[in-house]
Amino acid sequence: MSALQIDTSRGVAWIDGELRPLAGASLHFLSHGLANASCVFEGLRVYDGRVFRLRAHCERLLESAAIVGMAVRWSLSKIVAAIEAVVAAQRIGDGYVRPVVWRGHEALGISGRGARVHLAVAALPVGDPYAEVRAAGVRVALSRWRRPAPDVAPVRAKAAASYLVGGLALAEAQAAGFDDALLLGPSGGLAEATGANLFVVRAGRLVTPPPDCFLDGVTRREVIALASARGLAVDVRRIDPRELGECDEAFLTGTAAEVLPIRAIDGRALPAARPIGDALVAAYRERVRRAGE
Ligand code: PMP
Repeated sequence: MSALQIDTSRGVAWIDGELRPLAGASLHFLSHGLANASCVFEGLRVYDGRVFRLRAHCERLLESAAIVGMAVRWSLSKIVAAIEAVVAAQRIGDGYVRPVVWRGHEALGISGRGARVHLAVAALPVGDPYAEVRAAGVRVALSRWRRPAPDVAPVRAKAAASYLVGGLALAEAQAAGFDDALLLGPSGGLAEATGANLFVVRAGRLVTPPPDCFLDGVTRREVIALASARGLAVDVRRIDPRELGECDEAFLTGTAAEVLPIRAIDGRALPAARPIGDALVAAYRERVRRAGE
């Protein structure tokens, strides 16, 4: 799966309240967010010039910041307006938005007390980064890495710190020839992939684990709603990894991934027919371009 390529030589970013050229943006290497991981962020998609689930992502950004103890100086509506301003300034039709909140370099202590909290937003034109793999499906491997218990890490925050383990799991899976990794949770149930949530289909029912040790995806919630609206039963429950050998379909959900069918798990091919996954891929694609939150 392709990583998003970013051209920082052009475009504007909203940095601490001002629209500025992205090319001039820089970060002090003593920033607390860098060595001490006081950093949370979001990823949003723009479809036909409209940011999909803009409010939900901004709410989660503020929740993530609050969970890791960072007081953001801007209100929800200011952050919504900042994102819209960056997207409009660059006339982005289809794109990706990356807001970041982090502590600056004014204090070196572990707690970060005394360091200023910053907010910046970048937006870049991007089509569908997973277009090629969506039709075929992705090949995933079970990782040796796990998602932590909620008293080990702030699991509900979209915190930069969580991406260290996710990045290692993804790199290992890719080095072994897979597209992505599945991580277990602390009790040995399936949790999620490295940048997307997990659903399996068993006997016509959708099953997804409760988000008790990982991020509750905006896309996950959207897909549960789309499935329910179509009369599909959705069970939110623990999934034993042995169930992967018995499922009829499996797919990932995420802002970048959208609905992404899984073709094989640890070398075991899943059935080529994916009636429920295909229906949800199409329903989600239609949903994101329809007006409304
Ligand atoms: N889990 C992780 C680790 C992620 O990075 C993402 C992508 N933000 C998700 C789940 C899915 O979340 P969302 O649907 O809100 O993009």
